[in-house]
Amino acid sequence: MEYEAVIGLETHVQLKTKSKMWCGCANEFGAPPNTNVCPVCLGMPGVLPVANEEALRLTVLTGFLLNCSIPRYAKFDRKNYFYPDASKNYQVTQYDKPSTIAGFVDFELEGKTARVRITRAHLEEDVGKNSHFDRHSGVDFNRAGVPLLEIVSEPDITGSEMAYEYLNALKEILIYGGVSDADMEKGMVRCDVNVSVRPVGQKELGAKIEIKNMNTFSGVRRALDYEIPRQIEAVKKGEKLRQETRRWDDVAGITTVMRTKEEAHDYRYFPEPDLMPFMPTDAWLAEVKTRVVELPLARKLRFMKDYQLPAADAQTFVWDVPLGKFFEATLDQQKKAGGTNGKAVANWLINNLRAKLTETGKSLDDVQHLQQHIPELVAMVDEGKISNKIAQDVFTDIFATGESPKENVVRTNRIQVSDTGALEKFCEEVIAANPKSAEDFRAGKAAALNFLKGQVMKLSKGKANPAVVGEILEKKLKA
Ligand code: ADP
Ligand code: MG
Ligand code: ZN
Repeated sequence: MEYEAVIGLETHVQLKTKSKMWCGCANEFGAPPNTNVCPVCLGMPGVLPVANEEALRLTVLTGFLLNCSIPRYAKFDRKNYFYPDASKNYQVTQYDKPSTIAGFVDFELEGKTARVRITRAHLEEDVGKNSHFDRHSGVDFNRAGVPLLEIVSEPDITGSEMAYEYLNALKEILIYGGVSDADMEKGMVRCDVNVSVRPVGQKELGAKIEIKNMNTFSGVRRALDYEIPRQIEAVKKGEKLRQETRRWDDVAGITTVMRTKEEAHDYRYFPEPDLMPFMPTDAWLAEVKTRVVELPLARKLRFMKDYQLPAADAQTFVWDVPLGKFFEATLDQQKKAGGTNGKAVANWLINNLRAKLTETGKSLDDVQHLQQHIPELVAMVDEGKISNKIAQDVFTDIFATGESPKENVVRTNRIQVSDTGALEKFCEEVIAANPKSAEDFRAGKAAALNFLKGQVMKLSKGKANPAVVGEILEKKLKA
């Protein structure tokens, strides 16, 4: 019998707010332990939480970016458990009435568009961080109360690569939307991986195994590459898998049991009595909606379609957001000037401009003039006024000086010579100086023409129009 994997991910993402979820403490990574704390986030008795409105906005914004619906009634609940990193002995979360529900993420997988449905994205608070030393343990509460969004997927994921690409796409969307910095190194994204297997064709899901607290996407991929065959092998041997929680051992490359269903917590959720339900108005939602941005995949596909760019170029402009913006601004200028060659503009930005910026330490802000000047340069090449080779020199100059390509070619006398009178003189000179090659060509050696052409180009210091030179040489040699 053939088996297939079924995977659903619960992804926790720290929101990009200045302050924490219920108090004014800074939401900041890397401060000395327990310096960004107050009675509220330390869970002292009698304190009252005040919801961070920006965190609510970012939650709803994420909902929009993930194609979710935004219920007009959401509320907060207490999830009760005792653990040293949660000093309140409960975590505030959204249990049965979350702020966003029923969306989806589209992403690229093996050259096609794949979709994973989103069950919900609910707002909660992060907890502190335990550290274990040789003789003692410590808790840092700087992270306690940082707004945390939990994005729950439907069990639509069918393999490790799909899980990996989904997570990358999700992260890219969150960064694009300004919702989170999603910095893995700083623990801003963590993920619980739920995975089961079932015979192909069976509708009913197998026993859910949850691998807790993964903090790298490659770790998720590796854990699944281990866990899926483990489960399939077990059921093939006739073993009955039971719902359980496992942990991933990154060094050994295996998962091990953490707790079984019988040991699972009963969190005794109940509505948080210190917080009002969250009921956004039309006006409030409309304001958040203005912050919606084009999604990375949509942007890539649009760049490919509208500007006839290859996928790799489009991807470059999606990853490098400032360069992508610069590209679009340059194309606006090109359009104004009546040009349409987007691919040539992309080539200048990706192949030349990036290297020059690195080389000189300049930023895109320093070279705004190129938004007009690159289209001008492209037009000069397309119209045969300068060769590609000369254009490289012109680019180097205009990058440094800020002058326009037209000014530059006049000042440096680089304009391509297409004027036949001038070119005929060069050709006659070259034929006279190379009688042997001229003879070879007449004897049928076509390659000799290229040599003579090269000589004319040299004589003209690269400014001769090579196509015109070829025609003149042939005419003269055959005469
Ligand atoms: P819990 O309440 O224990 O967190 P949920 O039913 O809310 O469980 O599901 C949590 C995550 O597990 C979701 O991403 C969901 O898609 C996924 N999931 C649920 N059942 C299965 C299963 N049998 N196999 C794989 N993933 C599952
Ligand atoms: Mg869970
Ligand atoms: Zn605080």
